[in-house]
Amino acid sequence: MNSKTVIPYSRQSIDRDDIQAVSDVMQSPWLTTGPAVVEFEAAIAEYVNMDFAVSFSSGTAALHGMMHAAGIQPGDEVIVPAITFVATSNAVLFQGATPIFADVDPDTLLIDIQDVERKVTSNTRAIIAVDYAGQPCDYAQLRRLCQKHDLLLLSDSSHSLGAMYQGRPVPCWADMASYSFHPVKSITSAEGGMVVTQHSNFSQRMKAFRGHGIDMSFRERSDAGQWQYKMESLGYNYRLSDIHAALGNSQLKKLDRWTEARTEIAHTYQCKIIQRGLALQALSCLPDRTHSFHLFVVKLLSANRDLMFRYLRNLGIGVNVHYEPVYRHPYYQDNVPSARHSNCPQAERSIEVVLSLPIFPGMTDRELNYVLDNIARYQEQMETCAVSLNTKEIGFGIGSLAKARA
Ligand SMILES: *Cc1c(COP(=O)(O)O)cnc(C)c1O
Repeated sequence: MNSKTVIPYSRQSIDRDDIQAVSDVMQSPWLTTGPAVVEFEAAIAEYVNMDFAVSFSSGTAALHGMMHAAGIQPGDEVIVPAITFVATSNAVLFQGATPIFADVDPDTLLIDIQDVERKVTSNTRAIIAVDYAGQPCDYAQLRRLCQKHDLLLLSDSSHSLGAMYQGRPVPCWADMASYSFHPVKSITSAEGGMVVTQHSNFSQRMKAFRGHGIDMSFRERSDAGQWQYKMESLGYNYRLSDIHAALGNSQLKKLDRWTEARTEIAHTYQCKIIQRGLALQALSCLPDRTHSFHLFVVKLLSANRDLMFRYLRNLGIGVNVHYEPVYRHPYYQDNVPSARHSNCPQAERSIEVVLSLPIFPGMTDRELNYVLDNIARYQEQMETCAVSLNTKEIGFGIGSLAKARA
């Protein structure tokens, strides 16, 4: 966000309890591998009704841990949606395996399960479903497919903490599910991530993986009064500190209230878009699941998305686009053969017309109206072809304006 931004697309909320929780840990004996980490893990596990939760230093490290625990290795294929944050499929690359990109449903931007089925081969080991924008994927159908082909069902739930699928939290439907606690997400620990699972062997593998592959943490050795430890596998230092965990744990207490607030803002957007006759369509919300509205994503029915993006950004409205199909990124095109051969027409078509509008728990009606007023104004100006923009400066000729109108 630049300094002109008046309304960001997302903003964390920090209160005095959060600051106190962090301050308490800073005055305690354990800044890392301490009790605050254990408490945060237990709180997340309880929140999503899982037996095991393993924290990581980021959502990306959590995805890497999940890939390691799943035993993903060179030669394996893992199916991921074309539209997700790059970290989802980067985690497959970290293990030397091959990400295979499945197309998305144009109404929801969730992974297209029929396309997944077409892309299963004898090398496929797992699917990583991504709950895009905060809406859970169709886990019942994904589970049937995974059982049929003997695949692990993994979930990148970075957007969907607080959402339910058929009345149960998302992780109940998957072998493992990962979270991110980056400041734009539902709750934050500044940086941080977590994987939850019902499988103790996965949990053990991840705990070793995040701590150098060593069988005991510093605190466990200290409590046991011994210096010896064994490194039994190759691991990383992917630990979440107690300072971060304390912040995350304090934030979790407010999650339900925040999810309600996000849901209300999303409903207000949906109603007003219709009332005001704006040429926008919110992505579909499916009836058998709840949505955590990490993002509020609309499709533009007529306007040129990049022009509208620049117009709104110039007014300090932090609109955004989530996400460029992963396989189109230069690194993927240059280094990942499966990406060069990827072709996901729905993803490519949809991403040209989507826009994420600002949404965060503290967002006021005034801010929401400011966003919609300016979208309405932009659309009126497009109607009369009098967009007051220097089209040369922003790199669009009259040609693209005419195209946008057509
Ligand atoms: C945020 C995010 C991640 C990565 O999380 P970090 O904590 O930033 O490493 C992974 N996948 C998705 C879908 C995300 O939105």
